Amino acid sequence: MYDILIKGGTVLDGSGAPRFKGDVAVKDGLIARVAPSIDGEAARVIDAEGLFVTPGFIDTHSHADDLVFYHSDSYNCIEQGITTVLTGNCGVTPAPFPFDTPKNPIKRPVSDERRAEILRMCENGATYIEEAKKTEFGVNIAFLMGHCSVRAHAMGMSPQKPTREQMEDMKNSVRIAMEAGYYGFSTGLVYAPSVYGDVDEIAELAAVAAEYGGVYASHIRGEGNNLINAIEEAIEVGRKSGAPVLISHIKVMGKNNLGKSRRVLEMIHDAKDSGMNIFADQYPYDSGSAPLISQIPPKFLTEGGAKTLEHLKDPKFRDEIEWSIFNESDEFESIIYDAGYEGSTISDAVKTPQYVGKNLVQIAEEMGVRPIDAMCELLITNGVTVQGIYKCQNMEDILVYAADPLVFAGTDWGNIYEHHDIDQESGCHPRGISTMIKRIELIRDNGLRTPEETIRTMTGGPALAMGFEKRGFLKEGYAADICVFDYDKVHANSDYVHPYRPNEGLEYVLVNGVVNLEHGKCLGKMAGQVLLNKGKK
Ligand SMILES: [Zn+2]
Repeated sequence: MYDILIKGGTVLDGSGAPRFKGDVAVKDGLIARVAPSIDGEAARVIDAEGLFVTPGFIDTHSHADDLVFYHSDSYNCIEQGITTVLTGNCGVTPAPFPFDTPKNPIKRPVSDERRAEILRMCENGATYIEEAKKTEFGVNIAFLMGHCSVRAHAMGMSPQKPTREQMEDMKNSVRIAMEAGYYGFSTGLVYAPSVYGDVDEIAELAAVAAEYGGVYASHIRGEGNNLINAIEEAIEVGRKSGAPVLISHIKVMGKNNLGKSRRVLEMIHDAKDSGMNIFADQYPYDSGSAPLISQIPPKFLTEGGAKTLEHLKDPKFRDEIEWSIFNESDEFESIIYDAGYEGSTISDAVKTPQYVGKNLVQIAEEMGVRPIDAMCELLITNGVTVQGIYKCQNMEDILVYAADPLVFAGTDWGNIYEHHDIDQESGCHPRGISTMIKRIELIRDNGLRTPEETIRTMTGGPALAMGFEKRGFLKEGYAADICVFDYDKVHANSDYVHPYRPNEGLEYVLVNGVVNLEHGKCLGKMAGQVLLNKGKK
Protein backbone atom coordinates (compact mmCIF):
# COMPACT_ATOMS: atom_id res chain seq x y z
CA MET A 1 0.00 0.00 0.00
CA TYR A 2 1.37 3.36 -1.05
CA ASP A 3 1.13 6.48 1.12
CA ILE A 4 0.23 8.72 -1.80
CA LEU A 5 -0.62 8.03 -5.41
CA ILE A 6 -0.54 10.96 -7.82
CA LYS A 7 -2.73 9.84 -10.72
CA GLY A 8 -3.18 10.86 -14.31
CA GLY A 9 -0.76 13.76 -14.46
CA THR A 10 1.76 14.75 -17.09
CA VAL A 11 5.10 13.63 -15.75
CA LEU A 12 8.26 15.70 -16.35
CA ASP A 13 10.96 13.76 -14.54
CA GLY A 14 13.51 16.58 -14.14
CA SER A 15 15.99 15.20 -16.69
CA GLY A 16 14.68 17.17 -19.65
CA ALA A 17 13.27 13.97 -21.20
CA PRO A 18 9.93 14.26 -23.02
CA ARG A 19 6.88 14.37 -20.78
CA PHE A 20 4.47 11.44 -20.58
CA LYS A 21 1.09 10.78 -19.06
CA GLY A 22 1.55 8.76 -15.90
CA ASP A 23 1.28 8.09 -12.18
CA VAL A 24 3.72 8.64 -9.33
CA ALA A 25 3.56 6.53 -6.17
CA VAL A 26 5.07 7.64 -2.86
CA LYS A 27 5.95 5.54 0.17
CA ASP A 28 7.98 6.34 3.30
CA GLY A 29 9.14 9.70 1.96
CA LEU A 30 10.47 8.22 -1.26
CA ILE A 31 9.24 7.81 -4.80
CA ALA A 32 8.18 4.17 -4.94
CA ARG A 33 7.25 4.05 -8.62
CA VAL A 34 6.80 6.15 -11.71
CA ALA A 35 4.85 4.51 -14.54
CA PRO A 36 2.20 5.18 -17.20
CA SER A 37 -0.33 3.55 -14.89
CA ILE A 38 -0.08 2.34 -11.27
CA ASP A 39 -2.94 0.34 -9.83
CA GLY A 40 -1.92 -0.33 -6.20
CA GLU A 41 -3.83 0.84 -3.13
CA ALA A 42 -2.89 4.17 -1.59
CA ALA A 43 -3.82 5.96 1.63
CA ARG A 44 -4.35 9.09 -0.43
CA VAL A 45 -4.92 9.59 -4.13
CA ILE A 46 -4.21 12.96 -5.73
CA ASP A 47 -5.93 13.59 -9.03
CA ALA A 48 -3.41 15.29 -11.32
CA GLU A 49 -5.45 15.17 -14.51
CA GLY A 50 -4.44 18.12 -16.71
CA LEU A 51 -1.55 19.05 -14.41
CA PHE A 52 2.23 18.75 -14.58
CA VAL A 53 3.91 16.48 -12.04
CA THR A 54 7.57 17.47 -11.59
CA PRO A 55 10.33 17.22 -8.98
CA GLY A 56 10.23 19.95 -6.32
CA PHE A 57 12.11 23.09 -7.31
CA ILE A 58 15.63 23.71 -6.07
CA ASP A 59 16.53 27.25 -5.02
CA THR A 60 20.22 27.37 -5.94
CA HIS A 61 20.67 30.77 -4.36
CA SER A 62 19.19 31.25 -0.92
CA HIS A 63 20.00 33.44 2.07
CA ALA A 64 17.99 31.37 4.54
CA ASP A 65 20.94 30.73 6.89
CA ASP A 66 19.06 32.09 9.89
CA LEU A 67 16.43 29.41 9.38
CA VAL A 68 18.64 27.29 11.63
CA PHE A 69 17.98 29.63 14.58
CA TYR A 70 14.19 29.81 14.38
CA HIS A 71 11.36 27.46 13.61
CA SER A 72 9.60 28.41 10.42
CA ASP A 73 7.33 26.80 7.84
CA SER A 74 9.20 28.59 5.00
CA TYR A 75 5.84 29.34 3.41
CA ASN A 76 7.41 31.75 0.94
CA CYS A 77 9.51 28.89 -0.46
CA ILE A 78 6.76 26.25 -0.45
CA GLU A 79 4.24 28.57 -2.07
CA GLN A 80 6.49 28.89 -5.11
CA GLY A 81 7.25 25.17 -5.31
CA ILE A 82 10.68 25.21 -3.67
CA THR A 83 11.46 22.03 -1.75
CA THR A 84 15.24 22.51 -1.33
CA VAL A 85 17.28 25.65 -0.66
CA LEU A 86 21.04 26.03 -1.03
CA THR A 87 21.99 28.74 1.42
CA GLY A 88 25.19 30.53 2.46
CA ASN A 89 25.58 32.49 -0.73
CA CYS A 90 27.41 35.76 -1.43
CA GLY A 91 30.14 35.02 1.12
CA VAL A 92 27.97 35.82 4.12
CA THR A 93 27.30 33.02 6.60
CA PRO A 94 26.57 32.93 10.35
CA ALA A 95 29.51 30.59 11.05
CA PRO A 96 32.31 30.85 11.82
CA PHE A 97 31.91 33.42 14.54
CA PRO A 98 32.76 36.33 14.72
CA PHE A 99 30.50 37.70 12.05
CA ASP A 100 30.64 41.39 12.78
CA THR A 101 30.64 42.03 9.06
CA PRO A 102 28.36 44.73 7.68
CA LYS A 103 25.75 42.04 6.92
CA ASN A 104 24.87 40.71 10.34
CA PRO A 105 22.82 37.53 9.95
CA ILE A 106 20.83 37.94 13.18
CA LYS A 107 18.29 40.19 11.54
CA ARG A 108 15.40 39.46 13.84
CA PRO A 109 15.28 40.88 17.36
CA VAL A 110 16.42 38.29 19.94
CA SER A 111 17.07 38.37 23.69
CA ASP A 112 20.67 38.70 24.92
CA GLU A 113 20.50 35.15 26.17
CA ARG A 114 19.34 33.82 22.82
CA ARG A 115 21.97 35.90 21.07
CA ALA A 116 24.71 34.30 23.18
CA GLU A 117 23.26 30.89 22.34
CA ILE A 118 23.26 31.66 18.63
CA LEU A 119 26.88 32.80 18.83
CA ARG A 120 27.80 29.46 20.38
CA MET A 121 26.04 27.62 17.54
CA CYS A 122 28.04 29.64 15.09
CA GLU A 123 31.48 28.81 16.41
CA ASN A 124 32.25 26.96 13.18
CA GLY A 125 30.58 25.09 10.33
CA ALA A 126 30.40 21.88 12.35
CA THR A 127 28.64 23.40 15.39
CA TYR A 128 26.25 25.23 13.08
CA ILE A 129 25.29 22.14 11.11
CA GLU A 130 24.86 20.17 14.36
CA GLU A 131 22.32 22.82 15.38
CA ALA A 132 20.66 22.63 11.99
CA LYS A 133 20.13 18.89 12.46
CA LYS A 134 18.12 19.62 15.62
CA THR A 135 15.91 22.19 13.90
CA GLU A 136 12.69 21.45 12.04
CA PHE A 137 12.28 22.86 8.55
CA GLY A 138 9.49 23.27 6.03
CA VAL A 139 12.03 22.76 3.21
CA ASN A 140 15.25 20.80 2.73
CA ILE A 141 18.33 22.88 3.38
CA ALA A 142 21.96 22.62 2.18
CA PHE A 143 24.85 24.88 3.09
CA LEU A 144 27.77 26.82 1.61
CA MET A 145 30.57 28.33 3.71
CA GLY A 146 31.04 32.08 3.17
CA HIS A 147 34.27 33.94 2.54
CA CYS A 148 33.25 37.11 4.48
CA SER A 149 32.79 35.04 7.61
CA VAL A 150 35.87 32.90 7.13
CA ARG A 151 38.03 35.96 6.51
CA ALA A 152 36.55 37.97 9.40
CA HIS A 153 37.25 34.97 11.66
CA ALA A 154 40.90 34.89 10.58
CA MET A 155 41.70 38.59 10.32
CA GLY A 156 38.71 40.81 11.15
CA MET A 157 37.85 43.50 8.64
CA SER A 158 41.46 44.07 7.59
CA PRO A 159 41.93 44.82 3.90
CA GLN A 160 45.46 43.34 3.95
CA LYS A 161 46.69 40.20 2.27
CA PRO A 162 46.51 37.34 4.80
CA THR A 163 49.66 36.06 6.46
CA ARG A 164 50.39 32.32 6.12
CA GLU A 165 48.80 31.71 9.55
CA GLN A 166 45.69 33.69 8.63
CA MET A 167 45.43 31.77 5.37
CA GLU A 168 45.65 28.50 7.29
CA ASP A 169 42.93 29.71 9.67
CA MET A 170 40.65 30.41 6.69
CA LYS A 171 41.38 27.06 5.06
CA ASN A 172 40.72 25.34 8.35
CA SER A 173 37.31 27.02 8.62
CA VAL A 174 36.38 25.82 5.14
CA ARG A 175 37.70 22.32 5.89
CA ILE A 176 35.69 22.00 9.13
CA ALA A 177 32.55 22.98 7.20
CA MET A 178 33.21 20.60 4.32
CA GLU A 179 33.92 17.72 6.71
CA ALA A 180 30.59 18.47 8.41
CA GLY A 181 28.65 18.25 5.13
CA TYR A 182 28.66 21.65 3.43
CA TYR A 183 28.31 21.72 -0.36
CA GLY A 184 30.92 24.36 -1.12
CA PHE A 185 32.40 27.79 -0.59
CA SER A 186 30.94 31.17 -1.56
CA THR A 187 32.35 34.65 -2.05
CA GLY A 188 30.76 38.09 -2.05
CA LEU A 189 33.45 39.97 -3.92
CA VAL A 190 31.70 43.31 -3.57
CA TYR A 191 31.16 42.91 0.17
CA ALA A 192 33.72 43.67 2.85
CA PRO A 193 35.78 41.76 3.82
CA SER A 194 35.39 39.23 0.96
CA VAL A 195 36.19 42.05 -1.47
CA TYR A 196 39.74 42.28 -0.04
CA GLY A 197 40.60 38.72 -1.10
CA ASP A 198 42.54 38.33 -4.35
CA VAL A 199 42.18 35.56 -6.90
CA ASP A 200 44.93 33.40 -5.35
CA GLU A 201 43.40 33.59 -1.88
CA ILE A 202 39.98 32.62 -3.20
CA ALA A 203 41.34 29.80 -5.35
CA GLU A 204 43.24 28.36 -2.39
CA LEU A 205 40.03 28.31 -0.33
CA ALA A 206 37.88 26.98 -3.17
CA ALA A 207 40.44 24.19 -3.60
CA VAL A 208 39.66 22.97 -0.07
CA ALA A 209 35.95 22.81 -0.99
CA ALA A 210 36.88 20.98 -4.22
CA GLU A 211 38.61 18.21 -2.26
CA TYR A 212 35.14 17.32 -0.98
CA GLY A 213 33.43 17.73 -4.32
CA GLY A 214 32.21 21.18 -3.22
CA VAL A 215 31.40 24.06 -5.57
CA TYR A 216 32.71 27.61 -5.72
CA ALA A 217 29.67 29.95 -5.69
CA SER A 218 30.64 33.47 -6.62
CA HIS A 219 28.95 36.79 -6.23
CA ILE A 220 31.49 38.20 -8.67
CA ARG A 221 33.54 41.37 -8.30
CA GLY A 222 31.37 43.49 -10.57
CA GLU A 223 28.14 43.03 -12.50
CA GLY A 224 28.18 46.26 -14.52
CA ASN A 225 31.20 47.96 -16.11
CA ASN A 226 33.48 45.35 -14.57
CA LEU A 227 31.32 42.35 -15.55
CA ILE A 228 33.60 40.70 -18.11
CA ASN A 229 36.71 40.90 -15.90
CA ALA A 230 34.71 39.59 -12.97
CA ILE A 231 33.45 36.56 -14.94
CA GLU A 232 37.02 35.94 -16.06
CA GLU A 233 38.17 35.96 -12.45
CA ALA A 234 35.49 33.43 -11.41
CA ILE A 235 36.54 31.12 -14.24
CA GLU A 236 40.17 31.51 -13.21
CA VAL A 237 39.27 30.46 -9.66
CA GLY A 238 37.59 27.37 -11.13
CA ARG A 239 40.71 26.57 -13.16
CA LYS A 240 43.12 27.06 -10.29
CA SER A 241 41.03 25.29 -7.64
CA GLY A 242 39.39 22.52 -9.64
CA ALA A 243 36.03 23.44 -8.07
CA PRO A 244 32.86 23.60 -10.17
CA VAL A 245 31.87 27.28 -10.56
CA LEU A 246 28.40 28.67 -9.83
CA ILE A 247 28.01 32.31 -10.91
CA SER A 248 25.56 33.88 -8.49
CA HIS A 249 22.50 35.87 -9.60
CA ILE A 250 23.88 36.30 -13.09
CA LYS A 251 22.97 39.69 -14.55
CA VAL A 252 24.04 42.76 -16.49
CA MET A 253 23.93 45.99 -14.52
CA GLY A 254 23.89 49.55 -15.80
CA LYS A 255 22.75 51.22 -18.99
CA ASN A 256 26.24 51.21 -20.53
CA ASN A 257 26.42 47.44 -20.58
CA LEU A 258 23.25 46.46 -22.41
CA GLY A 259 23.72 43.23 -24.36
CA LYS A 260 26.79 41.97 -22.52
CA SER A 261 24.93 38.80 -21.50
CA ARG A 262 25.88 37.22 -24.84
CA ARG A 263 29.59 37.70 -24.24
CA VAL A 264 29.23 36.38 -20.69
CA LEU A 265 27.48 33.21 -21.88
CA GLU A 266 30.15 32.73 -24.55
CA MET A 267 32.81 32.80 -21.84
CA ILE A 268 30.85 30.38 -19.66
CA HIS A 269 30.26 27.94 -22.53
CA ASP A 270 33.91 28.16 -23.61
CA ALA A 271 34.94 27.26 -20.06
CA LYS A 272 32.44 24.41 -20.08
CA ASP A 273 33.72 23.15 -23.44
CA SER A 274 37.24 23.17 -22.01
CA GLY A 275 36.06 20.68 -19.37
CA MET A 276 35.05 22.95 -16.49
CA ASN A 277 31.88 22.31 -14.57
CA ILE A 278 30.25 25.75 -14.63
CA PHE A 279 26.75 27.11 -14.26
CA ALA A 280 24.85 30.12 -12.93
CA ASP A 281 21.71 31.04 -11.05
CA GLN A 282 19.32 33.85 -11.87
CA TYR A 283 16.28 35.66 -10.50
CA PRO A 284 13.92 36.96 -13.18
CA TYR A 285 13.60 40.62 -12.12
CA ASP A 286 15.11 43.86 -13.38
CA SER A 287 15.65 45.28 -9.90
CA GLY A 288 18.13 43.89 -7.44
CA SER A 289 18.05 43.97 -3.68
CA ALA A 290 20.94 44.38 -1.29
CA PRO A 291 21.76 45.93 2.06
CA LEU A 292 22.14 49.70 1.81
CA ILE A 293 25.42 49.57 3.72
CA SER A 294 26.94 47.41 0.99
CA GLN A 295 26.48 50.25 -1.50
CA ILE A 296 29.13 52.24 0.33
CA PRO A 297 32.57 51.50 -1.18
CA PRO A 298 34.28 48.95 1.09
CA LYS A 299 37.36 51.12 1.60
CA PHE A 300 35.16 53.19 3.94
CA LEU A 301 34.11 50.11 5.92
CA THR A 302 37.41 48.71 7.12
CA GLU A 303 36.75 49.37 10.80
CA GLY A 304 33.61 47.31 11.32
CA GLY A 305 30.07 48.09 12.56
CA ALA A 306 30.12 50.55 15.47
CA LYS A 307 33.00 52.73 14.22
CA THR A 308 31.48 52.95 10.74
CA LEU A 309 28.24 54.27 12.26
CA GLU A 310 30.21 56.93 14.14
CA HIS A 311 31.98 57.99 10.93
CA LEU A 312 28.74 58.19 8.96
CA LYS A 313 27.78 61.24 11.06
CA ASP A 314 30.70 63.22 9.61
CA PRO A 315 29.61 65.42 6.65
CA LYS A 316 33.11 65.27 5.12
CA PHE A 317 33.08 61.48 5.25
CA ARG A 318 29.69 61.56 3.51
CA ASP A 319 31.10 63.75 0.74
CA GLU A 320 33.95 61.31 0.22
CA ILE A 321 31.56 58.36 0.03
CA GLU A 322 29.35 60.09 -2.52
CA TRP A 323 32.30 61.16 -4.66
CA SER A 324 33.67 57.65 -4.65
CA ILE A 325 30.31 56.05 -5.57
CA PHE A 326 29.95 58.19 -8.67
CA ASN A 327 33.62 58.62 -9.69
CA GLU A 328 35.42 55.45 -8.72
CA SER A 329 33.11 52.80 -10.13
CA ASP A 330 36.08 51.00 -11.70
CA GLU A 331 37.42 50.39 -8.23
CA PHE A 332 34.07 49.48 -6.65
CA GLU A 333 30.73 49.50 -8.41
CA SER A 334 27.97 50.55 -6.05
CA ILE A 335 24.51 49.65 -7.34
CA ILE A 336 23.59 53.26 -6.56
CA TYR A 337 26.02 54.25 -9.35
CA ASP A 338 23.92 52.20 -11.79
CA ALA A 339 20.44 52.82 -10.41
CA GLY A 340 20.90 56.42 -9.20
CA TYR A 341 19.36 57.69 -5.97
CA GLU A 342 16.01 57.83 -7.72
CA GLY A 343 16.19 54.14 -8.66
CA SER A 344 17.17 53.15 -5.12
CA THR A 345 14.11 52.39 -2.98
CA ILE A 346 14.13 51.43 0.69
CA SER A 347 12.34 48.10 1.15
CA ASP A 348 13.08 47.37 4.79
CA ALA A 349 14.12 49.62 7.68
CA VAL A 350 12.52 48.60 10.97
CA LYS A 351 13.19 51.83 12.89
CA THR A 352 12.10 54.18 10.09
CA PRO A 353 8.99 52.56 8.60
CA GLN A 354 7.80 55.92 7.28
CA TYR A 355 10.47 55.76 4.57
CA VAL A 356 9.86 52.19 3.43
CA GLY A 357 8.68 52.12 -0.18
CA LYS A 358 10.24 55.50 -1.00
CA ASN A 359 13.37 56.19 -3.01
CA LEU A 360 16.37 58.11 -1.71
CA VAL A 361 15.42 61.30 -3.58
CA GLN A 362 11.95 61.30 -2.02
CA ILE A 363 13.31 60.54 1.43
CA ALA A 364 15.90 63.32 1.09
CA GLU A 365 13.15 65.79 0.18
CA GLU A 366 11.11 64.76 3.20
CA MET A 367 14.13 65.06 5.47
CA GLY A 368 15.18 68.32 3.83
CA VAL A 369 18.70 67.03 3.16
CA ARG A 370 20.79 65.67 0.26
CA PRO A 371 20.23 62.00 -0.81
CA ILE A 372 23.65 60.98 0.56
CA ASP A 373 22.66 62.47 3.95
CA ALA A 374 19.33 60.65 3.85
CA MET A 375 21.16 57.41 3.12
CA CYS A 376 23.59 57.89 6.03
CA GLU A 377 20.81 58.95 8.41
CA LEU A 378 18.81 55.82 7.57
CA LEU A 379 21.86 53.65 8.24
CA ILE A 380 22.63 55.37 11.55
CA THR A 381 19.04 55.25 12.83
CA ASN A 382 18.62 51.60 11.88
CA GLY A 383 22.00 50.44 13.13
CA VAL A 384 23.08 49.62 9.57
CA THR A 385 20.20 47.17 8.95
CA VAL A 386 18.49 48.75 5.94
CA GLN A 387 17.54 46.89 2.77
CA GLY A 388 17.16 48.52 -0.64
CA ILE A 389 15.72 47.61 -4.04
CA TYR A 390 17.66 49.03 -7.01
CA LYS A 391 16.42 49.26 -10.59
CA CYS A 392 19.62 48.46 -12.43
CA GLN A 393 19.06 45.69 -15.00
CA ASN A 394 17.35 45.38 -18.38
CA MET A 395 14.83 42.79 -19.59
CA GLU A 396 16.72 41.97 -22.78
CA ASP A 397 19.72 40.50 -20.97
CA ILE A 398 17.48 38.79 -18.41
CA LEU A 399 15.77 36.86 -21.23
CA VAL A 400 19.07 35.90 -22.88
CA TYR A 401 20.29 34.40 -19.62
CA ALA A 402 16.94 32.72 -18.86
CA ALA A 403 17.10 30.90 -22.21
CA ASP A 404 20.51 29.33 -21.49
CA PRO A 405 20.71 25.66 -20.41
CA LEU A 406 23.43 26.39 -17.82
CA VAL A 407 21.36 28.99 -15.98
CA PHE A 408 19.35 27.70 -13.00
CA ALA A 409 16.82 29.43 -10.74
CA GLY A 410 17.84 31.20 -7.54
CA THR A 411 15.70 33.48 -5.43
CA ASP A 412 18.63 35.38 -3.84
CA TRP A 413 16.22 35.73 -0.92
CA GLY A 414 15.84 34.05 2.42
CA ASN A 415 13.14 32.78 4.65
CA ILE A 416 10.14 34.97 5.43
CA TYR A 417 9.01 34.36 9.00
CA GLU A 418 5.77 36.26 9.43
CA HIS A 419 2.74 35.65 7.26
CA HIS A 420 2.17 39.14 5.90
CA ASP A 421 -1.05 40.69 4.73
CA ILE A 422 -1.06 39.94 1.01
CA ASP A 423 -1.71 43.60 0.22
CA GLN A 424 1.09 44.91 2.42
CA GLU A 425 3.22 47.40 0.51
CA SER A 426 6.98 46.87 0.31
CA GLY A 427 9.04 45.08 2.98
CA CYS A 428 10.37 42.44 0.60
CA HIS A 429 11.52 41.85 -2.96
CA PRO A 430 8.96 39.91 -5.03
CA ARG A 431 11.69 37.39 -5.83
CA GLY A 432 11.31 36.11 -2.26
CA ILE A 433 7.75 35.04 -3.05
CA SER A 434 7.68 34.34 -6.78
CA THR A 435 11.08 33.64 -8.41
CA MET A 436 10.19 30.11 -9.53
CA ILE A 437 6.73 30.98 -10.82
CA LYS A 438 7.95 34.14 -12.50
CA ARG A 439 10.76 32.18 -14.18
CA ILE A 440 8.30 29.66 -15.62
CA GLU A 441 6.07 32.50 -16.85
CA LEU A 442 8.93 34.43 -18.39
CA ILE A 443 10.28 31.40 -20.27
CA ARG A 444 6.81 30.18 -21.26
CA ASP A 445 5.42 33.53 -22.42
CA ASN A 446 8.54 34.43 -24.39
CA GLY A 447 8.85 30.95 -25.89
CA LEU A 448 12.45 30.65 -24.68
CA ARG A 449 12.59 26.93 -23.85
CA THR A 450 10.46 23.79 -23.74
CA PRO A 451 8.67 23.03 -20.44
CA GLU A 452 10.91 19.94 -20.06
CA GLU A 453 14.06 22.05 -20.32
CA THR A 454 12.68 24.78 -18.04
CA ILE A 455 11.86 22.23 -15.34
CA ARG A 456 15.27 20.53 -15.73
CA THR A 457 17.03 23.84 -14.91
CA MET A 458 14.97 24.07 -11.72
CA THR A 459 15.28 20.44 -10.57
CA GLY A 460 17.57 17.75 -12.00
CA GLY A 461 20.08 20.27 -13.41
CA PRO A 462 20.96 21.93 -10.09
CA ALA A 463 20.69 18.61 -8.18
CA LEU A 464 23.41 17.08 -10.38
CA ALA A 465 25.49 20.27 -10.37
CA MET A 466 25.47 20.49 -6.58
CA GLY A 467 25.66 16.78 -5.92
CA PHE A 468 22.32 16.55 -4.08
CA GLU A 469 22.03 12.77 -3.85
CA LYS A 470 18.69 11.21 -4.79
CA ARG A 471 17.05 14.60 -5.32
CA GLY A 472 15.84 16.57 -8.31
CA PHE A 473 14.33 13.71 -10.35
CA LEU A 474 11.11 11.72 -10.34
CA LYS A 475 12.79 8.33 -10.15
CA GLU A 476 12.29 5.26 -8.04
CA GLY A 477 14.17 5.51 -4.75
CA TYR A 478 14.55 9.28 -4.95
CA ALA A 479 13.20 11.60 -2.26
CA ALA A 480 9.54 12.41 -2.83
CA ASP A 481 9.98 16.16 -3.34
CA ILE A 482 7.23 16.83 -5.86
CA CYS A 483 5.30 19.73 -7.43
CA VAL A 484 1.90 19.40 -9.10
CA PHE A 485 0.76 22.46 -11.04
CA ASP A 486 -0.97 23.89 -14.07
CA TYR A 487 1.89 24.92 -16.35
CA ASP A 488 -0.29 27.12 -18.55
CA LYS A 489 -1.88 28.91 -15.63
CA VAL A 490 0.94 29.51 -13.15
CA HIS A 491 1.14 33.21 -12.47
CA ALA A 492 3.03 35.45 -10.05
CA ASN A 493 0.89 38.23 -8.60
CA SER A 494 3.63 39.82 -6.52
CA ASP A 495 5.37 42.98 -7.65
CA TYR A 496 7.67 45.64 -6.17
CA VAL A 497 4.77 47.48 -4.53
CA HIS A 498 2.86 44.40 -3.34
CA PRO A 499 5.54 41.73 -2.88
CA TYR A 500 3.44 39.42 -0.68
CA ARG A 501 0.67 38.71 -3.17
CA PRO A 502 0.45 34.92 -3.62
CA ASN A 503 1.15 32.88 -6.76
CA GLU A 504 -1.49 31.08 -8.81
CA GLY A 505 -1.51 27.65 -10.42
CA LEU A 506 0.43 25.56 -7.89
CA GLU A 507 -1.84 22.73 -6.65
CA TYR A 508 0.34 20.41 -4.52
CA VAL A 509 3.86 20.43 -3.12
CA LEU A 510 5.34 17.39 -1.36
CA VAL A 511 8.49 17.54 0.73
CA ASN A 512 9.98 14.13 1.52
CA GLY A 513 6.62 12.54 0.82
CA VAL A 514 4.60 14.91 3.02
CA VAL A 515 1.97 17.07 1.35
CA ASN A 516 2.89 20.62 2.38
CA LEU A 517 0.84 22.68 -0.05
CA GLU A 518 -2.69 22.34 -1.30
CA HIS A 519 -4.27 24.68 -3.83
CA GLY A 520 -1.61 27.36 -3.41
CA LYS A 521 -1.51 27.38 0.40
CA CYS A 522 1.38 26.13 2.52
CA LEU A 523 0.19 23.70 5.21
CA GLY A 524 3.03 24.38 7.63
CA LYS A 525 4.38 20.82 7.73
CA MET A 526 7.98 20.48 8.94
CA ALA A 527 9.19 17.68 6.69
CA GLY A 528 12.43 19.26 5.42
CA GLN A 529 15.82 17.66 6.00
CA VAL A 530 19.39 18.91 6.27
CA LEU A 531 21.21 17.72 3.15
CA LEU A 532 24.73 16.53 3.86
CA ASN A 533 27.46 16.45 1.26
CA LYS A 534 29.38 13.20 1.33
CA GLY A 535 31.41 14.08 -1.75
CA LYS A 536 34.84 12.79 -2.76
CA LYS A 537 37.89 12.86 -0.52
ZN1 LIG B 1 24.99 38.22 -3.98
